[in-house]
Amino acid sequence: MTTLVAAGATDVGRVRTSNEDEYLLAEPLYAVADGMGGHAAGEVASATAMEALSAAFDGNRSGAGLVDAVRDANRAVWEQSRQSSELRGMGTTMTAVALVEEDGDETLTIANVGDSRAYLLRDGELDQLTDDHSVVEELRRAGRLSPEEAASDPRRHVLTRVLGVDAEVEVDSFEVIPYRGDRLLLASDGLFGDVSDEDIAAVLRRRSDPERVAQQLVAMAKDAGGADNITVVVIDVTDDDRSARASTRVKSGWLAAQARPVSARRAPDTDPKNDTEEMPRAVLAEPGPSPAREEPVPEAAAPTPEPKKGRRLKLATVAFLLVLALLLASATAAILISARGSYFVGVQGDDVVIFKGRPGGLLGFQPTFEERPGLRLADVLPSRADELRRGKEVSSLDGARGYVRNIEEEARAAPVPPGTTPPPSPSVSPPEPVP
Ligand code: MG
Repeated sequence: MTTLVAAGATDVGRVRTSNEDEYLLAEPLYAVADGMGGHAAGEVASATAMEALSAAFDGNRSGAGLVDAVRDANRAVWEQSRQSSELRGMGTTMTAVALVEEDGDETLTIANVGDSRAYLLRDGELDQLTDDHSVVEELRRAGRLSPEEAASDPRRHVLTRVLGVDAEVEVDSFEVIPYRGDRLLLASDGLFGDVSDEDIAAVLRRRSDPERVAQQLVAMAKDAGGADNITVVVIDVTDDDRSARASTRVKSGWLAAQARPVSARRAPDTDPKNDTEEMPRAVLAEPGPSPAREEPVPEAAAPTPEPKKGRRLKLATVAFLLVLALLLASATAAILISARGSYFVGVQGDDVVIFKGRPGGLLGFQPTFEERPGLRLADVLPSRADELRRGKEVSSLDGARGYVRNIEEEARAAPVPPGTTPPPSPSVSPPEPVP
């Protein structure tokens, strides 16, 4: 039996005048929503979404039920926004996690729309489970912005997906098997917009209870500027289901049809920091507001196998590219050695000349002049002259010099001095020098 202990905290921050964030602690279901819209619309959007989410999930407490509940929440906000001009255009993010039983195994299903995040701390390592649906993060994932550029890009608050702006919405979802010791964090961008993942990880690694950790995280974001509303939910897996360990880590089924794997994961860092401050605000457990709980809760959330898959894939791609680069480099080196590491004896004007490289060049590597041994073309046997015009390849400079000496002596030993009667390029070898 998986057991969870959860707590939440929220704060308006140091700049905003109202808090449009919401969080939900409703035992097997936990969520964070970050509303947006003019006047009170943002608050209405996040509260409406939470109520609809909770009510719909109660009707179907399964992984697929959670995804449907997020869709219901979208529909509820969208319909409400059409009720009055004041609410038109309102929307909200939604990051929800629920402990559900699928085929006898307890798993955590995570569903996400927008840029509120779910993180998992496991074995001291912090991973971001969800993808932000924002312009900047999508550009970063596509490799068109570096992480540094993304962090300061003015479009980082522009969302590509949000609840309430359309009748239908695409929901990211995936499953994580909970293990005892796992710590899950749901957070609105008011937290990670001001606080680094390293600092978040440092606080999560402390052994404090979720209540205290939640308050510390909110306080840290306020200390860092508190530019936005800050909301966090911290969920500890205090016990797990032994059968879960024996089972496979990821299940698909309905997920295959509608879930999308999550991407970014980050490695943690250590960094102690900070103390307290706070905090709280609205918490809804069901239609109708209810107080937040900070009690041990059942069921749990856990890590994401999918993201790991994504990372492995990326690693595999990088490894492949590296190997490819190495192969190309060795091929280039081999060509270079072949093109530049050998010699040939050829002709330049009337002179016999030693070149470095291959006759005619190789793949763009042209031969270069090495030395002029002082032998004229007219002074070698006609057959040698042809050979020289084609380029006589040798493996070393010494070999080239030896070859030049040989053809020089060969000509000298010939019955008729070649220089006196140079026959026009005979294609047949001349008579061998006869003693
Ligand atoms: Mg926000």
